[in-house]
Amino acid sequence: MRRVSILGATGSIGQNTIDLIARAPDAYDVVALTGAGNIAQLAEDARRLNADVAVTAHSHLLEDLRTALDGSGVEAAAGSQAIAEAAARPADWVMSAIVGAAGLAPGLAALQQGSTLALANKESLVCAGQLMLSTAKAHGARLLPVDSEHSAVFQALVGEDMAAVERIIITASGGAFRDWPMEDLANATLDQASSHPNWDMGQRITIDSASMFNKAMELIETREFFGVEPEQIEVLVHPESMIHAMVGFRDGALMAHVGPPDMRHAIGYALHWPTRRDLPVARLDLAEIGQLSFRAPCETRWPALRLAREVMQAGGLAGAVFNAAKETALDGFIAGQLGFNDMAAIVEDVLTKMSAPRGHIDATMSLDNVAKVDHLARQEATRVIHKRAG
Ligand code: NAD
Ligand code: MG
Repeated sequence: MRRVSILGATGSIGQNTIDLIARAPDAYDVVALTGAGNIAQLAEDARRLNADVAVTAHSHLLEDLRTALDGSGVEAAAGSQAIAEAAARPADWVMSAIVGAAGLAPGLAALQQGSTLALANKESLVCAGQLMLSTAKAHGARLLPVDSEHSAVFQALVGEDMAAVERIIITASGGAFRDWPMEDLANATLDQASSHPNWDMGQRITIDSASMFNKAMELIETREFFGVEPEQIEVLVHPESMIHAMVGFRDGALMAHVGPPDMRHAIGYALHWPTRRDLPVARLDLAEIGQLSFRAPCETRWPALRLAREVMQAGGLAGAVFNAAKETALDGFIAGQLGFNDMAAIVEDVLTKMSAPRGHIDATMSLDNVAKVDHLARQEATRVIHKRAG
């Protein structure tokens, strides 16, 4: 039996992971499931999968979780420290599907145990790519991509020599507003930004898809994961979301990964890697689909893409600043404090203000330094948001 843990089990990726695991209950020994506010879901899944431990991020919900798990034999715990401890319990395969920078420390804890980490939490690579990779290397752990584009690239690279790779093209649906007139974007509402044309995902990544911050983060994720130069990575708008990524080789060949927009493919690939097993995803009928379309991304419409290129150029801890500013701006948009276009403006402001070297932070990429920079960038973003509001 494979020992598996799911960090962020109650979310969209977590639930899709559970869907796959629950189909073969005899194959998996579930160690830890973690969640946040949805105690009922967390407890139900922990009981059903007979997990060793269930952890909520919220300390004040510990009693609720205990009550919900009463008589089940599943241990209950709470708080971010408890999540990192659960992630450090010996397991063969750990799904990293917490949303945001909160996923970094638990992911590192799993890598330090030598577990295979299936990485949906792109924020860890954006904030601390080098730290994730060096930790994996030091502990003989493996990182497998779960983001659909990166899983697609990873699959297109099987058996290939990285030296033969010329470019990597990640596709973007364009999100909810891809066809909106530019002048309407400023007035886009939370409801409008929270519905994706093709994918069913958590609210934050759905809004990030509309603003292209999701693709911006994926540019950085691609650079970190595959070790390619920023100039080798392209974004291509592909409204149908059938081709997830393409790898271009020196001989001019393009290897494309084609599949339905269903995250259970990428999750299942990481779960069964290096083999392929049956997965409950739709089979595409290309004759029925008829046409696939592509367009170049417009950086005026989506300034997040330009910002990501600046972040890649800067390197070091710029990714941690970028992510923290983006998370804070997104909180502001969700809370109704900011307009849709303000998010990119705030991230740009924070990046500019924090680009000068800061005496009190050394630029070494440790978990401590990333946390410090993350904290400062959130403070700065909050200040900028208040200034705009006032
Ligand atoms: P979601 O909002 O649906 O779920 C997030 C999970 O994280 C939940 O279990 C929640 O309880 C937990 N969580 C939230 N805040 C937390 C905190 N502070 N500490 C600990 N746990 C916390 O999000 P999602 O759409 O499943 O996305 C999860 C991750 O996967 C994100 O990094 C996202 O970018 C990435 N991703 C998602 C998709 C998708 O299809 N949903 C695709 C590619 C990548
Ligand atoms: Mg993606």
